[in-house]
Amino acid sequence: MITLSTTDLPMFFSASHAELATTLAHSAAELRRQAPHREAVIPWLGGLGLLDHAVSGAHPDVRSLCLVREALGQASPFVDAIFAVQGLGAQALVRTPQFPHRNELLAEARQGRITLGFALTEPEAGSDVASLRTTARRDGDSWLLDGEKIFISNVGIADYFTVFARVEPAPSNGKAISAFWVPKDAPGLELLPIALSGGGDHPLGALRMKACRLSQGALIGEIGGGMRLALGTLDVFRTSVGAAAVGMARRALDESIAHVRKRVQFGKPLAEFQLTQAALADMATELDAARLLVYRAAWEKDQKDQAGGSQASKTSVAMAKMFATEAASRIIDRAVQLFGGSGVVASSVVAELLRDVRPLRIYEGTTEIQKLIIGGELVSQGG
Ligand SMILES: Cc1cc2nc3c(=O)[nH]c(=O)nc-3n(C[C@H](O)[C@H](O)[C@H](O)COP(=O)(O)OP(=O)(O)OC[C@H]3O[C@@H](n4cnc5c(N)ncnc54)[C@H](O)[C@@H]3O)c2cc1C
Repeated sequence: MITLSTTDLPMFFSASHAELATTLAHSAAELRRQAPHREAVIPWLGGLGLLDHAVSGAHPDVRSLCLVREALGQASPFVDAIFAVQGLGAQALVRTPQFPHRNELLAEARQGRITLGFALTEPEAGSDVASLRTTARRDGDSWLLDGEKIFISNVGIADYFTVFARVEPAPSNGKAISAFWVPKDAPGLELLPIALSGGGDHPLGALRMKACRLSQGALIGEIGGGMRLALGTLDVFRTSVGAAAVGMARRALDESIAHVRKRVQFGKPLAEFQLTQAALADMATELDAARLLVYRAAWEKDQKDQAGGSQASKTSVAMAKMFATEAASRIIDRAVQLFGGSGVVASSVVAELLRDVRPLRIYEGTTEIQKLIIGGELVSQGG
């Protein structure tokens, strides 16, 4: 069963969200029965119209995006990750109306005919993204990119990457970080797979660029506009990482309840022991708290966008991302404990969830970075 309610949080949702939740529950149930192979994920999502929620305008409906990720997180975390990266990869184009063939590319991305990636992280620039070292310099009518990107999702399936690089020589205003649209077969680009611990289907890899030649039109927006595009992209998607975590944790709770009802030890189902009920109570409470924080942040973002405001409260978004991903890890770990030995074998759903939830505390700003955001806002506001 896929649990995706909007009626329990009526203050955050409209009738269109309720409708979306119903459609999503059906798609997610189908996905749970049979997840497509990783190359087929984007076409599958495009066929269902779900990519419209990832590749939408500069101010997408964040609550819809979160509902999709909550449903996908419950049904198939690797499909959820591929879905999210399609949106991350498209955002710079979404925000740059003058980019050549932009409307056609975005239409193809929505229909699932092309797959995208977002390449910001480097071996020496992780949390500190502004220290990135990849360079871009002009060579006649081309751009030449040199450098390396690491831990990039959708490597192996993506047709295009939004790549961030530092233009050389740096402009006089010092703003050099710029975004580029890089096809997977660009000359001088090598794509290298990276295997995640514990296996799984999450497509991950590195981009090695040696005099990687791009057309002049590959620059997205203006020179020096890259940091704004990168941070604007993360600002839209960060809350939705929390929603994916909520979906995974919900799955773990549902699986746990079903398991403890049927597993008999000491002559009765585990569900009848109070220690088991206490574990479930903690899991359910943390799950609700996480979901409330996620949809509060998403609702705030949607209100501010509609009112023409620039940003939802950074604190709400950071709290949602931090708490939901940390809580989901605890909930899923408890689920493994309730399953006992059967919770750690390779084919176990809860073991897979434990593996799949772990990177959520790291990407799009680690838990520590979210704490720095929350703490920084608190002290700057004087408490
Ligand atoms: C599965 C997966 C998929 C990913 N997909 C993408 C992708 O598609 N595109 C992309 O660009 N990147 C992607 N990333 C990269 C991800 O965004 C980075 O891993 C993340 O930003 C952290 O950077 P880092 O790994 O270099 O760790 P570091 O920045 O080296 O951090 C290591 C530790 O130090 C802590 N730390 C860092 N700075 C501080 C500080 N000031 N104070 C206290 N503690 C601090 C961190 O919180 C962390 O615990 C992905 C990562 C993973 C794991």
